[in-house]
Amino acid sequence: MKAGHAEIAGAGFGGLVSAIALAERGWTVRVNERRDSLLGEGYGIAIHNNMARIFAGFGILDRVLAGGVRIDRRDSLDRTGRVVMTRKTARSPYRIDRQHIIALLAERALEAGAEIKFDAQVASADPAGAVALAGGETRKADLVIAADGINSGIREQLGLTDRRIWGRDCGARINIPRRPQEIAADDREGTVMIEAWADKRRVLYCPVTRNEFYVLLTCTRQDEGAAVSPIDPEVWARSFPFMRELFVRMRDEADWPQSHWAHFQTMRLKRWSAGRIAVLGDAAHAMPPYLAQGAGHAMMNALGLAESLREADTIEAALAQWERRERPLTEHTQLCTRIYGATMFLPAPLKKISILVEKLPWVAAQYVRAANHVPTGCDAGVNIDARMGGTISA
Ligand SMILES: Cc1cc2nc3c(=O)[nH]c(=O)nc-3n(C[C@H](O)[C@H](O)[C@H](O)COP(=O)(O)OP(=O)(O)OC[C@H]3O[C@@H](n4cnc5c(N)ncnc54)[C@H](O)[C@@H]3O)c2cc1C
Repeated sequence: MKAGHAEIAGAGFGGLVSAIALAERGWTVRVNERRDSLLGEGYGIAIHNNMARIFAGFGILDRVLAGGVRIDRRDSLDRTGRVVMTRKTARSPYRIDRQHIIALLAERALEAGAEIKFDAQVASADPAGAVALAGGETRKADLVIAADGINSGIREQLGLTDRRIWGRDCGARINIPRRPQEIAADDREGTVMIEAWADKRRVLYCPVTRNEFYVLLTCTRQDEGAAVSPIDPEVWARSFPFMRELFVRMRDEADWPQSHWAHFQTMRLKRWSAGRIAVLGDAAHAMPPYLAQGAGHAMMNALGLAESLREADTIEAALAQWERRERPLTEHTQLCTRIYGATMFLPAPLKKISILVEKLPWVAAQYVRAANHVPTGCDAGVNIDARMGGTISA
């Protein structure tokens, strides 16, 4: 098929990777972003080997990794701070600030020839091939990509939602400054990711840059005293007394207005496309974040779409082939991350067992299937394991 013109809604992971991949394949591309800049929430994104392969293909892997921190060890703690399990693991070897990745992807998209337009909210999309902007402008396109995130207006307008499964849990992600002694400890003890579970609450934190911690708090929706911005340190210290100081620092030093408590959900569509509109990323397949694969799948499916468009004879055939090829793995990850997240609701002894079960080779292989996947359009011959410190393991 001849390359044409694409209008993309959303300059997140899915929209920007689509822009790069299509522009590199000869398409003219305009990304319409409703915000007035690329600045969104700042938080850590785990870089698994699947994402790393895409960055390597775009020639930006070294720059992406240079902006983050390699995690040497992952410790699971109980409510007293006792280490239940320690893993010197390559499962999530790097944590990178979202803003850093988005900035590099945007730079790469511009280099490839794409245009990025800010203050450009897509009000609706026409399956015949057009977007209408909130400002009144209508733009025709051979392909429209709805990469407009979890609350996608385009998806709703098209009536594509099959099931929206709301989880019992919600989470907030926030960065806080690190103390000089914490930075100094990296050189002595290595970088550590701490994960603690108690009372249906979970705290995960690790360095995301040399000077900042990324903290992810998770709890149930009913836990009203916990899911507030800014947090109340005493409420969280009831479950994790040994982390009281961390919670006080979060309350006092984090940029709460740019964060929010996200209600976790799994999105399943009837189809991933309608006419000339492809829906991708969280808009098509949002998932709870426990396996840290939401952005990975947004990126993989964006690249896979560009490949299908290159291979097929018509837009319709390309969209059908794309969904057939990419959807099974995406749904596998959605299921695994829901199961993993469900361990949060288990009583303490069962929770310990589930952590051990996760280590069984077959179970581990299911959890990391996406992380080790070679995305469509990536060169399987690239030795990404060597660059990333090994195959991803649970
Ligand atoms: C607590 C939490 C932790 C997570 N941790 C990880 C992790 O470690 N690793 C990982 O891979 N994933 C993680 N995720 C998931 C990840 O953040 C998402 O999967 C990812 O951001 C999806 O990318 P996207 O491009 O589809 O959507 P988004 O990143 O949401 O981007 C959508 C863009 O579209 C714009 N937009 C929306 N509507 C319009 C419109 N009408 N017109 C124009 N623009 C519009 C928005 O402003 C935004 O810029 C986490 C999620 C949560 C909630």
